[in-house]
Amino acid sequence: MATAARETRLLPPPLPLATLIGRELRAAGSERPTLRYGHAGFAKRGEDYFLVKPDCLRVPGDPSSAFSVFAVFDGHNGVSAAVYSKEHLLEHVISALPPDIGRDDWLQALPRALVAGFVKADIDFQRKGEVSGTTATLVVIDGFTVTVASVGDSRCILDTQGGELQLLTVDHRLEENAEERERVTASGGEVGRLNLFGGQEVGPLRCWPGGLCLSRSIGDTDVGEFIVPIPHVKQVKLSNAGGRLIIASDGIWDALSNEAAAKACRGLPAELAAKLVVKQALKTSGLKDDTTCVVVDIIPSDHLTSPQLSPKKNQNKLKSLFRRRSHSSVGKLGGKSASIGSVEELFEEGSAMLEERLGRNLSLKAASPPFRCAICQVDQEPFEGLMTDNGDGYCSSPYAPWGGPHLCLDCRKKKDAMEGKRSSRSTACR
Ligand SMILES: [Zn+2]
Repeated sequence: MATAARETRLLPPPLPLATLIGRELRAAGSERPTLRYGHAGFAKRGEDYFLVKPDCLRVPGDPSSAFSVFAVFDGHNGVSAAVYSKEHLLEHVISALPPDIGRDDWLQALPRALVAGFVKADIDFQRKGEVSGTTATLVVIDGFTVTVASVGDSRCILDTQGGELQLLTVDHRLEENAEERERVTASGGEVGRLNLFGGQEVGPLRCWPGGLCLSRSIGDTDVGEFIVPIPHVKQVKLSNAGGRLIIASDGIWDALSNEAAAKACRGLPAELAAKLVVKQALKTSGLKDDTTCVVVDIIPSDHLTSPQLSPKKNQNKLKSLFRRRSHSSVGKLGGKSASIGSVEELFEEGSAMLEERLGRNLSLKAASPPFRCAICQVDQEPFEGLMTDNGDGYCSSPYAPWGGPHLCLDCRKKKDAMEGKRSSRSTACR
């Protein structure tokens, strides 16, 4: 009771929702952390967007089911894909989650729903016929469990109480990601540098057609379909000491290492921390690109100050996730979670193959009417829209070796296109 009394004294008058959540949780005997967050940014081209949604509810009307979402979107070739993703990506993810499931099941279903939501967002945006694209780094925080889904090169790093630094995303950049170069090439893309007149090669590795440096994004209708929207997803559980997340666009990461960004703001409240990271990046490299930084502190509720991330404990070991892991060892950590220091690793999967990401024959809404597409959640009557091979050898057929859940015609086409089997914009199957 001493804790509750101290909180009452120290806290400013809380929001009604926060009060309710606190009461519910204390009644349930579970500890939930408090979030403090801040944002800062400088625009060069005005194509960076961010999302802060601290008061989402898993169960409508039930404040004990609260979770929070933070995201950074770095657009290119215009802002429309970034704006679309900021406005709609989260709702596509939520719609792919079964309603009426408990918190543990919800968290377990989240990685799959993130994949479905990202692909749905990409399909929907491409239908608009606009050509821009965007990175998307979406962070869902429920208690001490943090789930990050990302395409492109906007990163999320985790700085823990123990001073351990972890990269929770993978950079989908052709220049630095050999696995992605192999995938794009195998799917029919060409990877190379820009050729100047006279044959001189300049700049980073790009994918042709299109000339994009990224291998995954949302949007980008005008580049090959092998630039896929399938996110790398990582889910971790922090110790009850909490930690700090820094989510930022490449304007930050091109200027600062993960360590430098974390170090630039340790011990400071989130709002100030975000400003200092941006300031440090600009000091290092000048304003070469849009820079956006969101800092989120996950603070144990009995410890309502910023995490005491003492610089003295700064013996950071960066856990780079670039290392190649065989598919059998990636993801599906399931019950036997791996522990990295104070952070428990619950799930990680980065494959661009939908079958590996959506589960085998496992509908996201298994109990729902006959055939619900696992990506766009459209219900279909039995056999309606099931694909047939029209003889050109490119279309999926009901007999194709697809072991995943039901997909509607459009989503099957998208899947095939992403795997380089055909262009989803081709009319061959219509
Ligand atoms: Zn569909």
